Amino acid sequence: MVRGLISFGGLAVVLLTTLSVILQKTGTVDVVGTLFPLEEIDESFQRGFRSDAIARINRMRLAGSIEGVRVDDEVQTHLSRFVETHGDPENIDLQDVFDDLQGRFPGAQYLAANLVTSGSREDLLSRIGAWDAVVSSEFDVINTVVFTSGRTIGALGVMSRRIPQFSLAAANGVGGKFFNRCPHCGEVHALEVEKESRTLILSCPYCDHPFDVLASDVTGRIRRASDFFTGFRLPERSDRVEGETPEEQIAKLWGQIADRCEYELDQEHSETREVWKSSNETWAERAGDCEDTSILLADALISEGFDARVAIGWNGNIGQHAWVVVRVGDKQYVLESTLQSEITPDSLSLLSEASNFYQPEQLFDRDHLYFSTSEPELFREDCFSPELWQSIPVKERDSSRPQLSQR
Ligand SMILES: [Zn+2]
Repeated sequence: MVRGLISFGGLAVVLLTTLSVILQKTGTVDVVGTLFPLEEIDESFQRGFRSDAIARINRMRLAGSIEGVRVDDEVQTHLSRFVETHGDPENIDLQDVFDDLQGRFPGAQYLAANLVTSGSREDLLSRIGAWDAVVSSEFDVINTVVFTSGRTIGALGVMSRRIPQFSLAAANGVGGKFFNRCPHCGEVHALEVEKESRTLILSCPYCDHPFDVLASDVTGRIRRASDFFTGFRLPERSDRVEGETPEEQIAKLWGQIADRCEYELDQEHSETREVWKSSNETWAERAGDCEDTSILLADALISEGFDARVAIGWNGNIGQHAWVVVRVGDKQYVLESTLQSEITPDSLSLLSEASNFYQPEQLFDRDHLYFSTSEPELFREDCFSPELWQSIPVKERDSSRPQLSQR
């Protein structure tokens, strides 16, 4: 099931999926008619059954040019224990099997289970072989557990594919599908990050809250939004004048950046993808589009001690857009970093007056991503209140589960 298709900058697509689980229960328990000599179901019987099942399944897969399945030993150990300790294996609830496996292996997002009962080993094998899921390319593993229940012999077959945990390194390595634990609601979900991705706003399909903003740099590497801040400081700052207001200082700094950097659309830079530039790159290349110049401007403001963030969201005139918000005392301003006219203190627009046109969806600075679950009428006019904007720290996220905090 595709839960969300989110675009940014007209080009970006992230596919967030919760992957299907297929439940199937076939076969009938015919206790009366199933008199047969019971074989002993020991470990070697189990192994033999699995290997016969795999041989049968892989012949069919080969015929359909689908990669073969194998046994996943870790899943097998877990599944065997699950069935052995289940008091009534004939009536195993397949959803319990999934919950149990996914609790232990969060990457087991693709699962199909089939419980068959029969009078003979051969019939069990043919029933497992007749199951749709065994020829599905969604799966690369089969595990089976055979059990007896009275005079009945049964088998639980589980098809699976485990996907790796999401990390930037993995996304930049092979790309593809990953699992991730939402830092907000704790649910595990799957996501797909293609190497050719552009700007990605990753949101949890369960709670809908964003947990990451990613973008491709000029080399095609996927990075976190905050990673484009480089601690940039203007090389030649104009001296502060006695009695100068913070707004005058901001306008002066902003003017230096606006004078140097031309507005340039990504399309002129690269035809196929939306890329972001770091502060240093935008400064060095003297050009950038809205998010590039916003990152540069916010980075330079932060270096001068201002509280500034980049906002990404919707602009009533432009569409998807990026701009800078800065706080001075109890005033908050929008800085339109693509402004081509001369920058004066009047170029700073009060957030309260600009909020009809500037509708932020996420904010970020050097260390945090911010999102709001409040009413848009409230958070559009205040981009700094910790009551309105929750923050997610973004540093060293790959090694540990992100912690939510208020700032
Ligand atoms: Zn969530």
